Amino acid sequence: MFDVVIIGAGIVGCATAYELSKYDLDVLLLDKENDVSLGASRANTAIVHGGYDPDPNTLMGKYNVEGAKRCIELVETLDIEFKKSGSLIVAFDDDDLKTLDKYYERGLINGVEQMEILDAEEVHQREPNLSKDIIAALWIPESGVINPWELTIAFAEVAVREGVKLSLNQNVINIEKQDDHYLVITETDQFEAKYVVNAAGVYSDKIHNMVAEPAFKINPTRGQYFLLDRANGEVVKSVIFPCPTPLTKGILVSPTIHDNILVGPDAQAIPDAEDTSTTREVLDQVGEEAKKSVPSLDLRTNIRNYSGIRANSDYNDFFVKISAPNFLDLAAIKSPGLTCAPVIATEGIKLLKDEGLDLKEKEEWDGTRKIVRFKEIPVEERAKFIKKNPEYGRVICRCEHITEGEIVAALHRGLPVVSLDAVKRRAGAGMGRCQGGFCGPRVQEIIARETGISPLDVLQNRSGSYILIGETKEDSSDN
Ligand SMILES: Cc1cc2nc3c(=O)[nH]c(=O)nc-3n(C[C@H](O)[C@H](O)[C@H](O)COP(=O)(O)OP(=O)(O)OC[C@H]3O[C@@H](n4cnc5c(N)ncnc54)[C@H](O)[C@@H]3O)c2cc1C
Repeated sequence: MFDVVIIGAGIVGCATAYELSKYDLDVLLLDKENDVSLGASRANTAIVHGGYDPDPNTLMGKYNVEGAKRCIELVETLDIEFKKSGSLIVAFDDDDLKTLDKYYERGLINGVEQMEILDAEEVHQREPNLSKDIIAALWIPESGVINPWELTIAFAEVAVREGVKLSLNQNVINIEKQDDHYLVITETDQFEAKYVVNAAGVYSDKIHNMVAEPAFKINPTRGQYFLLDRANGEVVKSVIFPCPTPLTKGILVSPTIHDNILVGPDAQAIPDAEDTSTTREVLDQVGEEAKKSVPSLDLRTNIRNYSGIRANSDYNDFFVKISAPNFLDLAAIKSPGLTCAPVIATEGIKLLKDEGLDLKEKEEWDGTRKIVRFKEIPVEERAKFIKKNPEYGRVICRCEHITEGEIVAALHRGLPVVSLDAVKRRAGAGMGRCQGGFCGPRVQEIIARETGISPLDVLQNRSGSYILIGETKEDSSDN
């Protein structure tokens, strides 16, 4: 019998597991995928939003500023990549100017501490490559870009180290109410839980409907992106937004933590929440829109396209509620859900406490994480480092300069790792220009060697994405 079973290991489920790991509780975190952070928490725009645009009467408006502060604190605590780039919301005409005023006012109500409306000259001084048609912008310095999957993985790594159980490849198909607990039923197992937390992203309405009357419906909404090579240099230093619409914050141009440029996303309602395809037609429109703000953008330097699926809903706010006895919904978490996740987790735990969950703090709890990023070590210290562990002297990913030592460390931080993309998300190998074309086979060997699985079972990403299908010739080393 678990005290708490959390369904969904995206950023919301993992942040909740992290917070619950402070207490003397048996907690189980379940996900249907073979890794944490394979839903919206992987494929998004990665912005820690300043808090100027959510409606102050929503939880999104109430949580945003506090969420941004906590994310920035967690950057230190969990050793996460972050760039405090600031954001500019740009205006092209008088209507846009009114929108900037509206968001300035909203920002004040939401508690955004620093904001400024810049005139055209100030905007172009800050960002010389922006369109000369831009007449003003709202400047939000307290925002930036983060590594979203790294934050999610770090929450999970610390939670597991501090006693939370993680079980992957567990697709929850039903929840049955028993006398004094729930039975959470997956395709292969069942788990007893005194309390259940629903953090199932685009499927959170389905999980909710297993125990309560329907209260909201998720409308999966896809957004497509270009990821441009670093050759674009500093075409922009801050996140450049057009004025938002009710559906989306608009097509933005943003630096990433790895100094690439991200362009996107559109917002397209789709029937299938698994459909992460990208299309030429939409990408052409995304590119055109982005060039209105940054005309010199060179989309030929694209190294990857991807899409993410938002858990937009007809409720139009985060659905954070106790929906049945001892059943907590952390559901319909659309943007700015990444920014708000730390607050969603702690507010959710307060609701569980009101439901009677006994929160007795552990005598010892370590909420920190530290990892080695070899390329950030000063050159004069590297030799000493390599002498201690020669694996740091072998560069595996030449695009991103990631060493074997970093890959091996990522494989031993407590979460199961069975795919090249799981290594990419943890150590950065394969993130660069060749997108793993050169280092992929070497990473595959390292995963097999370190985890003891057959190279044939090392996947590209999700379950079933096999890379090798068999041997092509006999081992001839004895001949
Ligand atoms: C295109 C896009 C851009 C965005 N940009 C930003 C941004 O810049 N800044 C920001 O703050 N927010 C942004 N967001 C929002 C943010 O990414 C999400 O709000 C956040 O990641 C949601 O986290 P989650 O844990 O609720 O969902 P997910 O990360 O989707 O996690 C849900 C998990 O539940 C699992 N699951 C689902 N069903 C089951 C089941 N039946 N059994 C077991 N497991 C199950 C899934 O496998 C998944 O791992 C963006 C979102 C998108 C899609």
